[in-house]
Amino acid sequence: MKFALTSVKPVLGEFELIRHYFAAASCAQAGEGVALGIGDDCALLQVPVGEQLAISTDTLVAGVHFPESPDPFLLAQRALGVSVSDLAAMGATPVGFTLALTLPSADADWLQAFASGLDRMAQQCAIRLIGGDTTRGPLSLTLTVFGRVPAGMALTRKGAHVGDLLCVGGELGDAAGALQLVLGQRETEPAVAEPLLARYWSPMPQLDLGQALRGKATAALDISDGLLADCGHIAAASGVALIIEQARVPMSAALLAFAGESASRQCALSGGDDYRLAFTLPTAHLADLQQAGWPVRVIGRVVAGEGVTLLDAQGQPVKLPFSGYQHFGRVSD
Ligand code: ADP
Ligand code: MG
Repeated sequence: MKFALTSVKPVLGEFELIRHYFAAASCAQAGEGVALGIGDDCALLQVPVGEQLAISTDTLVAGVHFPESPDPFLLAQRALGVSVSDLAAMGATPVGFTLALTLPSADADWLQAFASGLDRMAQQCAIRLIGGDTTRGPLSLTLTVFGRVPAGMALTRKGAHVGDLLCVGGELGDAAGALQLVLGQRETEPAVAEPLLARYWSPMPQLDLGQALRGKATAALDISDGLLADCGHIAAASGVALIIEQARVPMSAALLAFAGESASRQCALSGGDDYRLAFTLPTAHLADLQQAGWPVRVIGRVVAGEGVTLLDAQGQPVKLPFSGYQHFGRVSD
């Protein structure tokens, strides 16, 4: 039931739009785990015996999470990548996602490009569009992703043990470093700009790494709000302290070339939008994972206590002037 006065139908017609751009998209076609997709009141998912469903929702709002008038292909690709990253963080295998789309108007070219971007990321993540909702209003997207994970094997934020290593799944800070390029505030040579913009616009969820960490990592999450803030979540949920050695936090050559050492470090520690995994790992698993080629970079360790401590190259604690992004500000400083 919708209130006629507040829910204005897009020009194209809501049902035509859904049928043409979403139900017809290749990512909306039948696939493993989806018993019923777009077109009915609910989708139906088939969860294998012995597995659990992992579910996560993310909302992206124009002007808050992406520029006001983004490229629709890149927007769709990024929105889905960001959402699926939560499945990677739990060690889950993607099954399906829903898309609640609020649009100021129904422009055919815009929708076509948007659907193509969605298709591209959906194919890379092997996830299918199973339903959604379409309304008119200021541009925003809400994606809900569904994945499956063997019962009891999901990687959670709780479980880090004193003595574990603290690791990340690769270089950090590129997406935050790309923000000036995204907003058109700065330009640079393609060899530097392209890798940074790619990390912003098409964050590839570390799905394979997440699944490889099942039964090995003791706690995990994907870094969305910045390494320091997100490590704080693992520390709090696990009832431990995390020590991060600043010199071991990996940064890309492109970021260093673009932003210089000090600003790059700030991006890597607090910038957000990385969508790399951060996890705690018993020392015994490190060599096997690295030899198998997984991008496991040790940046610190788990000790008794609480909170996150950053150490400089001399092993001295660094005062933390910055933290991750929070929409409603900090409760205390
Ligand atoms: P209802 O009124 O029963 O909620 P809708 O008319 O909103 O159904 O949607 C009709 C069908 O189209 C449903 O299966 C819904 O999941 C799907 N759908 C609506 N919008 C989208 C979208 N943006 N992307 C994918 N599927 C959508
Ligand atoms: Mg609906």
